[in-house]
Amino acid sequence: MAIIIDGKELAQEIRNDLKIKCSELKEKGIKPKLAVILVGDDKASQIYIRNKSKACQEVGIDFEEYLLKKDTTQKKLLDLIETLNNNPNIHGILLQSPLPGHLDINEANMTISPKKDVDGFNPVNVGKLCLNQDTFVSCTPYGIMKMFEKYNIDLTGKNVTIIGRSNIVGKPLVQCCINKNATVTVCHSKTKNLEEHTKNADVVIVAIGKPKFLKENMIKKDAVIIDVGINRDENGKVVGDVDFENVSKKASYITPVPGGVGPMTIAMLMNNVIKASSNN
Ligand code: NDP
Repeated sequence: MAIIIDGKELAQEIRNDLKIKCSELKEKGIKPKLAVILVGDDKASQIYIRNKSKACQEVGIDFEEYLLKKDTTQKKLLDLIETLNNNPNIHGILLQSPLPGHLDINEANMTISPKKDVDGFNPVNVGKLCLNQDTFVSCTPYGIMKMFEKYNIDLTGKNVTIIGRSNIVGKPLVQCCINKNATVTVCHSKTKNLEEHTKNADVVIVAIGKPKFLKENMIKKDAVIIDVGINRDENGKVVGDVDFENVSKKASYITPVPGGVGPMTIAMLMNNVIKASSNN
């Protein structure tokens, strides 16, 4: 039976440390503040924002929400980002995705000042990650790297297979793993013989959004399994992209869903806001 990587507990530890750092900043007269922009009324986004707001409250970070109507124009969105860029009391800016289809998220992310880009989506910060320079690392990959660190899972020379190549998870993860000296394979919906890549991997990270996609016959014994997916199964229960019940019998380490990568993502967002506030 695999060791369960407890993201909930680690996230709590991280938030406790950040709480101390936050009060030290306040003693120096800096009041860390995160601005979150939500366009439209997507229900899932509202839940994510509520969770981020709660985490901010716990750490001591001020939280400000900016709501734009579903039919808002690109110009209005960019103008708001510029206003927040120029506000010295705001240290971090987060644009909640998804955006309504008529808006250009790439242009919006490019407009967020790299110094306030706590999600790590501005191309400047993406580039810095590629160059292995100090930067804002996007929160989910960063959280996964912290889990490896905490559980002494050294990626040096390991075969890591990442399933999923999104801009927010898969791609930055590739860089994070390369920076830790792993040999990385990336799979996606056009990959042929996916199992060959997962069976050969010491570490498999799945981020595709398909319930219980990774089965035990797709991995080698004692592989480390990281499950990023958040899905609902046929009974409405939250499940990951990994068939946890069976895969956990063969893996050496595994993250649960819920309680794995999810809480770490939010903890690393808090970390990035404190970092942005300290850089001021
Ligand atoms: P995207 O939809 O942006 O990307 C999904 C990726 O998976 C794409 O690269 C796609 O390939 C690939 N893919 C889809 N189906 C398959 C398949 N059958 N075989 C191989 N590859 C496949 O998703 P995200 O990266 O945003 O999110 C992925 C999952 O992670 C979701 O469940 C999401 O809810 C969750 N998530 C969880 C977070 C957390 O904190 N725990 C944070 C962010 C996301 P292609 O590029 O070819 O289309």
